[in-house]
Amino acid sequence: MFVAGRRVLVATIVAGCLCSGLLAAPPTAVAQDLDLLNVTLVDGTGAAPRKGVTVTVRGGKIGSIVERAPAASTDVRQIDLGGRYLLPGLIDAHSHVESPAAALRALQSGVTTSRVLGDTNLQAMGTRDLIRAGYVPGPELLVSPGHIRPKPGIAFYEVYPQFGDAIDGELRGPDRIAEATRALIAKGADVIKVGASERAGLASTDPRKQELTEDEIRAAVTEAAKKGLYVAAHAHAREGAAAAVRAGVRSIEHGTWVDDATLDEMKRRGTYFVPTLAVMSPLGDPQGNSAEDVALQLRTQSMMGPLRAAVRKAHALGITIAAATDGSYADRDDTGRIRIAHEIAMLREHIGLTPLESITAATLNGARVIGIENRTGSIRVGLEADLVAYDGDPLTDSKAFFEPRLVVSDGKIAFEGAAL
Ligand SMILES: [Zn+2]
Repeated sequence: MFVAGRRVLVATIVAGCLCSGLLAAPPTAVAQDLDLLNVTLVDGTGAAPRKGVTVTVRGGKIGSIVERAPAASTDVRQIDLGGRYLLPGLIDAHSHVESPAAALRALQSGVTTSRVLGDTNLQAMGTRDLIRAGYVPGPELLVSPGHIRPKPGIAFYEVYPQFGDAIDGELRGPDRIAEATRALIAKGADVIKVGASERAGLASTDPRKQELTEDEIRAAVTEAAKKGLYVAAHAHAREGAAAAVRAGVRSIEHGTWVDDATLDEMKRRGTYFVPTLAVMSPLGDPQGNSAEDVALQLRTQSMMGPLRAAVRKAHALGITIAAATDGSYADRDDTGRIRIAHEIAMLREHIGLTPLESITAATLNGARVIGIENRTGSIRVGLEADLVAYDGDPLTDSKAFFEPRLVVSDGKIAFEGAAL
């Protein structure tokens, strides 16, 4: 699988092959030292591309970024990328990856890190831990093991039966929300997701309606901060988004009807914006013809205009925008086919981000939202070797993001196209 004559490194578990027609390296291969020769480097920070660069990978980290190729050595695999673009591994700042199969699909699409906002019966947590232990390949996942909101749904109560008294009513009050936050933390949360407005993806809920109150969201923020964790707020509604920002959340997810005053407040506080533009397309065009499907379709389409307007204003104000799919990467799901490539295209075409800005949105800004920019999200010596190379030109053509040539995660080759 590697260059002829080289030792194929340890492969352990091969999760059901989703890679028909593609050449995948052993998914859980041990990190191998690499010299990626002759790349056009786009480092994720917004700096101008640099041609003719070599990036070395040593011990899973970025070892050096040099003009001259190092001498060949038997311990290091050299790959000549022939001038192709090399970017930081993509960060999907809001996904719903739950299974190992979905995780593998995300990884092979170039995503080396993802924040998973919500979980069904701790599946994402299990997948996260299988990946961390090296048993299955996948992006690094940072998970909220649940979505705290007044009506969290039956799966929440299955995992957190201590809140069962609210099952027919609502989970309400700052004390109860703080308790729920502690419960998620006890399950090993990396981040906490709260509901500041009702959901858009169901015809039966009204995304214009605020859910948790400012005091309730503040209780979650305070409790999470004690453990050094951030809170992400699902917020379409104007009042819900305003409450979440005032309560000190790290990021507004979606933000459809966020108003000018709240955008100003986000700018002042450094609140991040994760708009998930691309997910609106499949929601606006759901399968089926039931009255519910049609209602959902019409409403979603009516949300696209306000959302784009809000994101354009946020961009003009200099609010940090991170790219995300809100997708599952599952094979039987409306949102499963969305890729970061779709979001990058929308950030460019509908919002007006420059190509370099859109790449930063999908790399460094995602790391900042999560709070891990000191170890990934850009190409800098000493950071984790999370890298992706493309055949096409990702600056002039966002479709290039659909076809990674090489994906490296923590120094391990996760995907490699046909021989270079
Ligand atoms: Zn979501």
